[in-house]
Amino acid sequence: WFDASEPWLVRMLGRKPKRTLKAVDGVSFAVPRGSTFAIVGESGCGKSTIARLAVGLYTPTNGSLTYSGGAGSGGRMRVQMIFQDPYASLNPRWRVKDIIAEPIRELGIRKGAAIGKRVDELLGLVGLMRGDGEKYPHAFSGGQRQRISIARALATEPEFLVCDEPTSALDVSVQAQILNLMKEIQGQFHLTYMFISHNLAVVRHASDHIAVMYLGGIVEQAPTEQLFRNPRHPYTRLLIDTIPDLEAPNRQRKQLAGEVPSPLDPPSGCRFHPRCPQAQDICKRVAPALEEQNGRRVACHFPLQPATP
Ligand code: SF4
Ligand code: MG
Repeated sequence: WFDASEPWLVRMLGRKPKRTLKAVDGVSFAVPRGSTFAIVGESGCGKSTIARLAVGLYTPTNGSLTYSGGAGSGGRMRVQMIFQDPYASLNPRWRVKDIIAEPIRELGIRKGAAIGKRVDELLGLVGLMRGDGEKYPHAFSGGQRQRISIARALATEPEFLVCDEPTSALDVSVQAQILNLMKEIQGQFHLTYMFISHNLAVVRHASDHIAVMYLGGIVEQAPTEQLFRNPRHPYTRLLIDTIPDLEAPNRQRKQLAGEVPSPLDPPSGCRFHPRCPQAQDICKRVAPALEEQNGRRVACHFPLQPATP
């Protein structure tokens, strides 16, 4: 129920309303309720733009954004966002209880006792102590701060959480704890997640569906296990091959060749052609369409075939 089937030019709301950020082309996908949809790509591919569009921080200047199947059909979903950097996204001058209480007040709840009770509930939900509400953000570790961000996001009882690199600022061991917490909360409240990451390995165990983006467009989309077992786009294949092998950490990893070209001046034809090991002549001239087959989508003139067992 997230659809933007026209090319978008994106404008940021707020202080610089006229600044045009980037085009995101023909991006459209459906996220089943209660599932996790991951968007993966290198920086500059447009994934954060999609996230901000989804929560309404940006407004599309061209094209449309539709939610359907929500509680109020055709209406706006209750969407919240969790940001990458829990250091930057929490006001250092506020006590944790006030940080979490702010969105509750915005819901129109005014009674101090009711707010206090809800704040305590939320702290418990994310594994923090009641007394933690009295402290300031600097008293907490990165992982605990991300717990505070999650509590704040849940305060408005959202249906849809957009998480932009929610664990990439954290240590690996803490990442797993936060991902597990998010999974628990998802089950408990039947939440739908959009998970934005540059790291395919991080979303492997945390998502049901993955869309791989490259320079403003989706190049492949599939159920997570299918994507890993049988990647069809050469870019997806390369992303999987660059994931470190935990069993053989010293093995030489493949590197993805070349820089991501500027989205303002994208390559002709298939935007991936300058970096693609399989590129043919036609790839430089003709942009491949995103074709759908058996519930998967791929944009490539020469999609990879499944390895024969
Ligand atoms: Fe590579 Fe051509 Fe496929 Fe693009 S269309 S990914 S250049 S093979
Ligand atoms: Mg980003």
